[in-house]
Amino acid sequence: MVSEIMNNVKNKNIQKILIANRGEIACRVIRTAQQMGIQCVAVYSDADQNSQHVKLADEAWYIGNSPASESYLRADKILQVAKQSNSDAVHPGYGFLSENAGFAKACSDNNIIFIGPPTGAIEAMGSKSEAKNIMTLANVPLVEGYHGDSQEETLLNQEADKIGYPVLIKATAGGGGKGMRVVETSEEFLLSLQSCKREALSSFGDDKVLIEKYLTKPRHVEIQVFADNFGNAVHLFERDCSIQRRHQKVIEEAPAPGLSEDTRNAMGQVAIQAAKAINYSGAGTVEFLYDEDGSFYFMEMNTRLQVEHPVTEKITGLDLVEWQIIVANNQPLPLKQDQLSFNGHAFEARIYAEDPNNDFLPVTGKIDYLGLPKLNSNVRVDSGVVTGDSVSVFYDPMIAKLIVWDKDRNSALARLRGALSEFHVAGLTTNIEFLHELASHDSFMNADLDTHFLDKHGEELCNLTNDVSDSIIASVALTVMLEQSSQSLEQALDNHSSPWLDSTGWRLNEDNHHIIEIIHNEQLITVIAHFREQGFVFEISGKDYLVKGDLSDNQHDLSLDIDGQKSRVIISKKDNDIVVFKNSMSWSFQIKDNKKSVVEQEESSNLTAPMPGTVIEVMIEVGQEIEKGQPIVIMEAMKMEHTIKAHKSLVITDVLYAVGDLVEDGAELVAFEEL
Ligand code: ADP
Repeated sequence: MVSEIMNNVKNKNIQKILIANRGEIACRVIRTAQQMGIQCVAVYSDADQNSQHVKLADEAWYIGNSPASESYLRADKILQVAKQSNSDAVHPGYGFLSENAGFAKACSDNNIIFIGPPTGAIEAMGSKSEAKNIMTLANVPLVEGYHGDSQEETLLNQEADKIGYPVLIKATAGGGGKGMRVVETSEEFLLSLQSCKREALSSFGDDKVLIEKYLTKPRHVEIQVFADNFGNAVHLFERDCSIQRRHQKVIEEAPAPGLSEDTRNAMGQVAIQAAKAINYSGAGTVEFLYDEDGSFYFMEMNTRLQVEHPVTEKITGLDLVEWQIIVANNQPLPLKQDQLSFNGHAFEARIYAEDPNNDFLPVTGKIDYLGLPKLNSNVRVDSGVVTGDSVSVFYDPMIAKLIVWDKDRNSALARLRGALSEFHVAGLTTNIEFLHELASHDSFMNADLDTHFLDKHGEELCNLTNDVSDSIIASVALTVMLEQSSQSLEQALDNHSSPWLDSTGWRLNEDNHHIIEIIHNEQLITVIAHFREQGFVFEISGKDYLVKGDLSDNQHDLSLDIDGQKSRVIISKKDNDIVVFKNSMSWSFQIKDNKKSVVEQEESSNLTAPMPGTVIEVMIEVGQEIEKGQPIVIMEAMKMEHTIKAHKSLVITDVLYAVGDLVEDGAELVAFEEL
């Protein structure tokens, strides 16, 4: 009966897929499925009401509250939506339910294709120790170790002694780098064992562990495998994921630098052997530790699409999601091993909302600005967010994956650095500068890779302080002035009698100046801006600069000319917060509220309007005697207040304007007689 259902399932042509995931991977799966003419059903939680995957899908169904345990991990609700929406198949993405054998089984029990391997394969690889037992039988090389059933403390300690230190204690149910302890000596073994078991129990609900030899300078090299339901299995070459922080991948690349063709073939064959040993079907990844001496050992198999699959796509030119759907449609693999090849080199950098200067703690909040590098056949961005979206506390704080390709490693790495310098996020702290430093590090450029790379070099890549130059300050001041002038112009255009309509440009009194107060790193920076026919003169730390420039229509590209030297920066301005991006660096500023700051006119010989504007306060009346320096009228122009003061002692004979009047540049404000 079951096999009959399975047969029916397998012969159904997929026309509609429910994507049981969110974020970039949901968007990525939707893209390929829609290109194949398949309808896509998204599911979403409260926090994801307006998320990109919801917008991209053909249909989107609400499945619950924001915590994943109440939405994306609710197999029952997702299955219910799959049935109600008449979906033929479910794509689980990665994480969440992707390696949940119970969910995969529930899908097929309900006549819905699970786009992933058979339940048995997920179960077999679900336990690291079980997986190793199967691999031993299939002659797949393993790191020396103990992965038996007994969990008796003294026995485990003896096994560790036999292997020889350092050893690694690993939770068999572990994942995501959790539940692992390196033990250096026999004396500390028991304490580490107990602590590892506690963590395993609380994280995975299972405290079973295995012990293996801890390799001190290994690389993480993994093989992408694919199998179909007809006994065909191929590998799509390797990825090097040695750059890790707390056992989590940071930058991945393909192919693995320096891997010989013989090792590549041998690893590929072993990976295929591993897949065949568990009757695999679909996309999977066999992870190996690759030791300095060229030997390699099976670590585990991930029975799903990996986060880093795009680097394989870039070097093979294949679409792995398309292949997953082909296999799920019960069709044979499109290519045989001898038809597969790779070309060039690809990197993927994971862009996270996290603070490298604060132990990489995740950061949450709204993305005020997301500026991407130019996308083309060399540069790809997989992302699930756009400007205005939020990174919430509920899910992984990954903002995007940046993937680059070029003909060789050096050129691809140059592309990576270039694309990272054009990747701009404002509103949240990210690891972009850290990634750029990493991509510029000599050891990384020389491919001197191992899984401890960031333990060794991490500190050099963090706590970067970018000195703020006068030209960056000038770009902030110019942004403020350009914005104010365009706002004043807009207001003037709304008001046809405005003197601004006569303006052909700056017609402002040469003596007039504005003070722009900027806060950077808790320091106050003061810029005095003078209007000139040719632009502005900005006084910054006692030096004068003649500055002019334009802000693009999208308000982000600022072209600058400072004393004749031209440059370009990217600006993100949200209320009083300004972020300036230049090359791979960024600086954050806060503008003190200029509207409230009163700028006093310099002493002049008459009482005229220093610029076109509105009278907002008249502080004198006819007949009043005024002392030198006493305020007479306050005007507002360009959102700033200007106080016009008496230049000498005088008596007012007439008041020519009232509050609310628009005044032209140079107009007499009052009539007076000198005393
Ligand atoms: P997880 O499932 O939590 O990702 P893995 O078994 O895949 O755990 O291991 C994660 C990382 O830990 C590997 O990429 C590697 O850097 C390191 N690691 C695992 N086993 C060993 C070992 N025996 N020796 C040295 N490093 C190891």
